[in-house]
Amino acid sequence: MYTPLSINLTTNGRPLRLHLLSTGSVAVKRRYREARGRGFGALLDFIIDSRFTEWLPIWVLVVEHPEGIFLIDTGEVAAIMRKDYFRSSGWIPSWFDKTQFHFKVTREDEIDVQLEKLGISTTQIKTIVLTHLHFDHTDGLLHFPDTRVLVNQLEWDKPFGAMKRLWPPHFQPVTVNLDCPYDMFERTYALTGGEDLVLVHTPGHTYGHCSVLIKTDAGHIMFAGDVCYSQEQLLNDAYTGANASHRMAHDTYERIKDFAQHQSLIFMPAHDPESAYRLASWTPVYNLPSEGLTALEDE
Ligand SMILES: [Zn+2]
Repeated sequence: MYTPLSINLTTNGRPLRLHLLSTGSVAVKRRYREARGRGFGALLDFIIDSRFTEWLPIWVLVVEHPEGIFLIDTGEVAAIMRKDYFRSSGWIPSWFDKTQFHFKVTREDEIDVQLEKLGISTTQIKTIVLTHLHFDHTDGLLHFPDTRVLVNQLEWDKPFGAMKRLWPPHFQPVTVNLDCPYDMFERTYALTGGEDLVLVHTPGHTYGHCSVLIKTDAGHIMFAGDVCYSQEQLLNDAYTGANASHRMAHDTYERIKDFAQHQSLIFMPAHDPESAYRLASWTPVYNLPSEGLTALEDE
């Protein structure tokens, strides 16, 4: 449903190729995507909401970098269409995930098949980086039994809403501490020697939630996981119905907007249908007049 997007850029003058792939689609309660209120009230409000959103993407990002191929998140798998998929996690999580989310995922949508179509075998992936541990970001791990997986130490130590029984038995991530600042972000970890691929702590959705910041010669790109469901939400200070910490989510929004006000930033949440458009047309969060970017104007 969501067409894959491949784009050629450069980083420090060297080629950088990105592939944005949707591993099927998901629909959530409308008031889950955009909450009225916070905390328990917001939770009840979306549980009783009968309306679902349109089909949303489940983006993952492949980064063909001079230092190797990185995969950011692993997306969803067709097995989620089975009625008993969540059974191992117990009655309440099973009821919750079956009733609050709808999925449309085929075998063709899974990450291994999509990589193969790009001429990339799963064993060519140097490192998988997970934004957080929710199943629609980790289910595709089953295709990578031998690949190094990086997770923020805090996300591993204090997961929020993760369903551990769905993880493949081989899942033993390398955990990293994010202890270097990068611009307005206090806690980051460089994924490459060139420091042009950076794991950034963007908490709120979960305590250890991270985004991946890519520094290209055209400007920055942020694969933002579940920071929010759309760029509009970021700009309007609107929040989803289930954050680990509303205060942290608010602080994350402010830091991203501050960053985008002085750096050209393409913002790509994992379930935002417009992420692909903004990357393809190079449409940053704010147009910075001082930079000679090739942004497409609407008029
Ligand atoms: Zn999530």
